[in-house]
Amino acid sequence: MFICPGCRKFLRITRHAKVLWKEALFQHTPGDVNINRQINRFFSSSSTTLAKAGDEINLAKFSPENIRNFSIIAHVDHGKSTLADRLLEITGAIPKNVRNQQVLDTLQVEKERGITVKAQTASLFHEYKGQTYLLNLIDTPGHVDFNYEVSRSLAACQGVVLLVDANQGVQAQTMANFFLAFERNLTVIPCLNKIDLYNAKPEMVLEQLHNVFETDPNDVLKISAKVGTGIEDLLTAIIERIPPPPGDRDKPLKCLVFDSQYDQYRGAVGNVLVMDGSVKKGDKIMSLFSRKSYEVQGTGILHPNEKLVNVLYAGQVGFIHANIKKISDFQVGDTFCHQKSPVEPLPGFKPAVPMVFAGIFPSDQSQLPSLKAAITKLTLNDSSVAVSLENSAAIGQGWRLGFLGMLHMDVFCQRLEQEFGASVIITAPNVHYRVRIKGKKNIKIYGDEIVDVLNPCKLPDLSIIEEFQEPMILATIIIPDQYLTTVLSLCLSRRGEPQEQTYIDQNRLVIRCIFPLNEVLVDFYDELKSVTSGYASFDYDDHGYRTSDLAKVEFHINKLPVEEMTMICHMSSSKRRGKEICARLKEVIPRQLTYVTIQAVVHGNIVAREDIKPIKKDVLAKCYGGDVTRKNKLLNKQADYLKKLKQVGTVKIPKDTFIKVLKKK
Ligand code: GDP
Ligand code: MG
Repeated sequence: MFICPGCRKFLRITRHAKVLWKEALFQHTPGDVNINRQINRFFSSSSTTLAKAGDEINLAKFSPENIRNFSIIAHVDHGKSTLADRLLEITGAIPKNVRNQQVLDTLQVEKERGITVKAQTASLFHEYKGQTYLLNLIDTPGHVDFNYEVSRSLAACQGVVLLVDANQGVQAQTMANFFLAFERNLTVIPCLNKIDLYNAKPEMVLEQLHNVFETDPNDVLKISAKVGTGIEDLLTAIIERIPPPPGDRDKPLKCLVFDSQYDQYRGAVGNVLVMDGSVKKGDKIMSLFSRKSYEVQGTGILHPNEKLVNVLYAGQVGFIHANIKKISDFQVGDTFCHQKSPVEPLPGFKPAVPMVFAGIFPSDQSQLPSLKAAITKLTLNDSSVAVSLENSAAIGQGWRLGFLGMLHMDVFCQRLEQEFGASVIITAPNVHYRVRIKGKKNIKIYGDEIVDVLNPCKLPDLSIIEEFQEPMILATIIIPDQYLTTVLSLCLSRRGEPQEQTYIDQNRLVIRCIFPLNEVLVDFYDELKSVTSGYASFDYDDHGYRTSDLAKVEFHINKLPVEEMTMICHMSSSKRRGKEICARLKEVIPRQLTYVTIQAVVHGNIVAREDIKPIKKDVLAKCYGGDVTRKNKLLNKQADYLKKLKQVGTVKIPKDTFIKVLKKK
């Protein structure tokens, strides 16, 4: 219960009319941080319906022969979440007559953006030839930034349903996801989706599938996830083509944690695949990562809401919680076993390689502890984020976080705000550069010849740098061939090096091209889409580091360097970037009592300069006569203002200047 600042009435958010209330509240108080926070807290706690004790399901009859674990993979918008809805409906997990739309996309950011960012599991029961099968489905995200979710999900599966939009055909992420499954030797069930569309071109897509993946057209199913055509056949194919999970109930427990989230009441909750043995409430289990033991408080499956089960057996996928409150003890990729019968740990997962780094600071330093708690809880749910502490003299304490891409960064910050009510400032993102140091022997500070530079202002002194190295990517671009010349010239303008080009059907091309990551990070995909009228798709993979002609751009105010502003960019664009930032600094630094010069300096050469003219010194100069109160008021105002400024040499700069310039636009 709280008072609405709009109409001063007492308001209560009720569970029954939550949507209505939410809308009304937002109308009264658009953007009110406090209210939004309360609402979000309310919804995040009510969104997971906790299963009650007493109505446990018995999974004992599902031995591995009656279990199939599979993922749905595809390019963005090819219909994965819609197909998951139909599978849930047809197996009775959710009611049929309701307009179900992407029910597995439960996060607020997923609903708002219409994309999946988090893999979601659901266990389904399906009758086939007189037997009941337990099908564990994992809906995955399609965007390249969330590939890590896909690769982890695949560790819990023996097969995948590869969806291809019958209108758009094979796209860049279709290829990337197919190869992820292929590398793991998973059974692939190719499926043409959206065959209900008027302009669907199934023949063309079959040809593409044959050319790219050597798929036999007879193996391809034709479905419409929206209308529901062909879903029964797909279920049959899943049961007949995908092998049952390996696993033996009688062996000691071995279970893999492939995902996790934080729950206010239960602590860390892990999504697990039981490889061998079985696990139940009350068991003493041990983490092979932290070597700590816990007592299992509950086990269950997602149906798609939580349903408790008394025992999880070999081959089954479910969740498990053991009152683990210390989040750092809980790792995705960990193996759990019974305390008394230790086993060899499973290989776990390759750590994600963050591509983009940005500083994150609380907008108010007093909120540092709550932001810290929010970041730790959220990284439990999103293990691909790399976290390190950062301290900036100008902005205060915060973190430097590594993300898999720009969308990932946006989604993470949005989730921080929506699910934890945090209010953050995020700096302009940069990539992870490296430098090679000259004559290692003489320099004691650096133990290694190659130094990682996560933050440009921590760059070693230029005089000891032998060379700069920048991260590269290998991009896959799929386009209709009439756009070839425009796309190639776009690639060249971004320092791209086109490699091979192959046709996947009569007029669609796959281009492979090596780029410096920095050049494609922010707006390359947008531009690619605009020059190809939206027909291009784009995906990339890490391609190591390469020596490059990079420049350190420093900013001097009245000849003194301002560390926080230092940046690294390619030599060819250093002058332009220097000019841009100088102009932005000129806008935000207030006029002073003396002249202020702002300079951009690249390796000792001044490449840009802006001047700020002084203001008159005496605030009372025009205040003739004897109005003492007015004079005092003016003097106090001036004193207050001066207190807030940070001194750089003789120049006083307001604290938020750095934030305004560094902030992501
Ligand atoms: P995802 O990104 O792969 O999860 O794709 P979604 O399931 O979110 O679907 C993207 C869009 O495609 C939605 O607007 C769906 O309504 C639409 N869609 C999905 N399947 C079909 C289909 O079989 N036919 C038609 N016409 N539209 C579909
Ligand atoms: Mg989706």
